[in-house]
Amino acid sequence: VRDPLAPLEVPRRLLMGSGPSNPEWRVLQAMAAAPLAADDPAAAELFDSLTDLSRQAFQAGPHAHGFAVAGASRAGLEAAIASLIEPGDRVLVGVYGHFGELLCTLAERHGAQVERVDADWGQPVDPEAFAQRIRTRPPRLAAIVHADTSTGILQPLEAIGRACRETNVLLLVDAVLSLGGCEVNTSGWSIDVAVAGLQKCLGGPPGLALMSLSSAALGRLSPRPDTAYLDLSRVVHWWRSPAERGPAEMYTSMLFGAREALRIVLDEGLESRWARHAAASRALRAGIDAMGLRRFGKEQSQVPMITLVNVPDGIDEVGVRQQLLVEHGIEIMAAFGPLRGRVWRIGTMGTNACLPSVMTVLSGLETVLASRGFGLARGAGVDAARAVSRQRP
Ligand SMILES: *Cc1c(COP(=O)(O)O)cnc(C)c1O
Repeated sequence: VRDPLAPLEVPRRLLMGSGPSNPEWRVLQAMAAAPLAADDPAAAELFDSLTDLSRQAFQAGPHAHGFAVAGASRAGLEAAIASLIEPGDRVLVGVYGHFGELLCTLAERHGAQVERVDADWGQPVDPEAFAQRIRTRPPRLAAIVHADTSTGILQPLEAIGRACRETNVLLLVDAVLSLGGCEVNTSGWSIDVAVAGLQKCLGGPPGLALMSLSSAALGRLSPRPDTAYLDLSRVVHWWRSPAERGPAEMYTSMLFGAREALRIVLDEGLESRWARHAAASRALRAGIDAMGLRRFGKEQSQVPMITLVNVPDGIDEVGVRQQLLVEHGIEIMAAFGPLRGRVWRIGTMGTNACLPSVMTVLSGLETVLASRGFGLARGAGVDAARAVSRQRP
């Protein structure tokens, strides 16, 4: 029997699944400071700087509001949906993976009449078809995932944003995987609500939803949504009015972490960070291909933050992941829904979007696969990754 008073032994892992990824040490350190009460005058700088830093990270306009909601990233998605629609409103959702299904579920739970535009897993939704649906019969809200972690596919958003702007339809985008890993141009693509998390490409732990709201979305928040805690009109008012803050909402430790994560991201520079993610996935993919493995999804639409690999015939999907974890301390992940058992997902996010992490996962995977009788040329994967990493992009 386990002694409940024994210290929890947290094993050291290289987190290269679909998230969380390994946080920046500086973020964890920032979170270790004593929390502040939200009405402490010293907290004002924390709130103001977070608004400023998140606006920059989301490339949002000067009138957008950047803030955060305590909870998993999906708390931010749910807050947005609950606060922008009334029961019976039509919500148009683009679905090309698991997180598109989540948007449908959230909208349904809040009473929406959900209409969907679907794409097969492995490709994005046709942006023109989605835009056409918006123009023909404008919904109250259009919602779509920018980069769906379940399929590793990137959704083009410009045409969709344009249609939303022309028709005054609000556009909600799940940017949980994409922010910090590839371009998320909230103002340029007319995104009204963008939601991210710290745990994918921003170098922090899970537990905070980072958000950006356009002035149009701010003006259309429901005064009495069917949620109290996730009511964005309340959250935004509270965030913007220090005098009324009161001591509540004391998730300042998460906000310390978010602030440090964003400082690191903006200090590196958004474009350098996107280039780093692109370089890491190029090296990983060259290695995977050289090992004789096949990747999943339409090549031109693949995101640089996660790589989907088809499980070879006769190889035990679960066994490989377990062996990689136990013998190498590396986590890669299984897939959802129609891809379950058929695909592994390898993330190169945040601190792990770098050559050393890519080399480590490739050599671990090679060793595990070889031990299970998969015929491959030893060393081919890491050699190919090395060769690609030495080329100019
Ligand atoms: C991880 C992820 C989420 C959910 O994040 P949680 O913090 O677990 O709620 C939502 N959307 C996408 C695209 C993700 O990758």
